[in-house]
Amino acid sequence: MILIDGKKAAAELREELRKEVIELKDKHNRVPGLTVILIGDLTPSQIYVRNKEKSAKEVGLNSEVVKYPDTVEERVILDKIDELNKEDSVSGILVQLPLPKHIDKKKIIEAIDPAKDVDGFHPMNVGNLSSGYESSVPCTPLGCYLLIKQIEPKLSGKKAVIVGRSNLNGKPMTQLLLKENCTVTITHSKTKDLKAECLEADILVAAVGIPELVKGDWVKKDAIVIDVGINKTDKGIVGDVAFDEVSKKAKALTPVPGGVGPMTIACLLKNTVECFKRSQL
Ligand code: NAD
Repeated sequence: MILIDGKKAAAELREELRKEVIELKDKHNRVPGLTVILIGDLTPSQIYVRNKEKSAKEVGLNSEVVKYPDTVEERVILDKIDELNKEDSVSGILVQLPLPKHIDKKKIIEAIDPAKDVDGFHPMNVGNLSSGYESSVPCTPLGCYLLIKQIEPKLSGKKAVIVGRSNLNGKPMTQLLLKENCTVTITHSKTKDLKAECLEADILVAAVGIPELVKGDWVKKDAIVIDVGINKTDKGIVGDVAFDEVSKKAKALTPVPGGVGPMTIACLLKNTVECFKRSQL
């Protein structure tokens, strides 16, 4: 069984980006810039944002974090986004989720210029992805896709099953694999026989948020299994896949932690560089 090393793949991607940023600086006399808006003091959000800032600096991007208390008015955030949309030195804007209840997530996502939407959540980017046009792709599914391609470059005709249909993970994952000519089934909490669906998969992606939902006897022999889940349990952080059982059946499997997670931030940096390049055309 191949243990898919997300840390290594992310380090390689960051190194590629670091070199690319040097070339872009030579060519355009400036580097891509990423601005993250952080509202409130939720610990996980603070940790994510700190990691994003550190990684952005490592690859040579301009990185800025703008912080607001969780009492901030929605209008203040919308005005800030408007200012950043117009600011040439900012190539990418990310508003860290979740947001406080009084702030409308949809309004915030739609306020970001689609050309600077490094999360790929703007409806314009969602539409572009599903139409097969160039767009920012949400970072976690993009990371999963790159890991799958490393293991299996030829995906055409493969049967892929996605567990979970969130806008963040399951839906964009489906689009990325459709683009590769996979036959894709997307499953969710109302799916009748999830085990039977999973057993069909050459490529199985679990993005659910239920600890160790996918069992060993749900997985076809030699399937590629990608575990997006991050679940806090009494025995520590576990994924949506029962690792010990599934590792006996799968051809390749991502661990949790150390699989998909590190790729998510590297893909955010990749999206920032891509937004910058498109803005220079
Ligand atoms: P979500 O809650 O938005 O969506 C979960 C999906 O799972 C829904 O579509 C739901 O229909 C489906 N679902 C729920 N119960 C199910 C069941 N019993 N059978 C089949 N499907 C079921 O979650 P999300 O934001 O997509 O996140 C999913 C997991 O991925 C979470 O554990 C989250 O922490 C993790 N995550 C990891 C990363 C990363 O970088 N590795 C990034 C984002 C999210």
